[in-house]
Amino acid sequence: MGSLLVVGSVAFDTVRTPFGEATEVLGGSATYFSTAASFFTDVELIAVVGEDFPESHIDFLKSRGIDLTGLERRGGKTFRWRGEYTYQLNEAHTLETHLNVLETFRPKIPEQYRSPKMLFLGNIDPELQLDVLNQVERPRLVACDTMNFWIGGKRDALWRVLEKVDVLVINDGEARDLGQDSNLVKVAKETLARGPKHLIIKRGEHGVLMFNQKHTFGAPAFPLEMVKDPTGAGDTFAGGFMGHLASTGDLSEAGFRRAIIFGSVMASFTVEAFSLDRLRCLEYKEIEARFREFKRLTHFEDLS
Ligand code: AMP
Repeated sequence: MGSLLVVGSVAFDTVRTPFGEATEVLGGSATYFSTAASFFTDVELIAVVGEDFPESHIDFLKSRGIDLTGLERRGGKTFRWRGEYTYQLNEAHTLETHLNVLETFRPKIPEQYRSPKMLFLGNIDPELQLDVLNQVERPRLVACDTMNFWIGGKRDALWRVLEKVDVLVINDGEARDLGQDSNLVKVAKETLARGPKHLIIKRGEHGVLMFNQKHTFGAPAFPLEMVKDPTGAGDTFAGGFMGHLASTGDLSEAGFRRAIIFGSVMASFTVEAFSLDRLRCLEYKEIEARFREFKRLTHFEDLS
């Protein structure tokens, strides 16, 4: 039986930030997610690439132990995204989206992946997310991500997905668009009433908030001296979060909170370099060391 299944995009990204630029580098929601999760657990990736996708990228994903049986290669070009960040690094400005092979992609889950323990529906068309849900036996945990592109364009389909997932992971701007309210606490209440049991709101350098029926939990972002490129931070967060949950199987409140810190730790590495460059040379002992720094960062004594 599989462990953690992810469906999402594999992309060429062209990104400009105040600290540099990168052209047609490896990116995509499923790429960041699966690479981050691979530090914790076995991952199976479902995605599509075009004829132009180089073997070197495939070799990198394989070197992380990611199962690529479900990575389809099709005639045509790989999905491309071009974005820009100003000094306000929290928000990506999309300049171009070329769906290319993603436009006609219909994910087909290979037989051996149809009973995953956990499933992450990365940022793709909500109709495709539904399609994937219909092909698998109900996993122990289903999480999903989305973005403004779909909140605006496919709202109804998106709500149908949300009725079926356990965890929704989105950023604060998207949460406000989804809930049509500027107050995140109100948005959380509304969203939890309509489906997901946990809502995780990523707030860039301001950290993360998690809401469920009983608790609210907040964690800061790890304070870094250099943030070069925030692209992929959200997907890396989700990969670290779910990868850790899949490795422990602990779905208690304490387990979720610890997974949130692992997600934040992984995202803090991704933003230190363009594309997946920091994750390429990351070692597990660095992850644990930063986890412990995080613990010290957020520790304080109770009132006596
Ligand atoms: P994030 O973690 O939110 O920064 O996501 C960044 C990744 O999302 C980039 O590597 C892009 O390739 C990918 N991406 C951007 N727009 C889309 C879209 N419409 N559908 C799927 N993936 C996308």
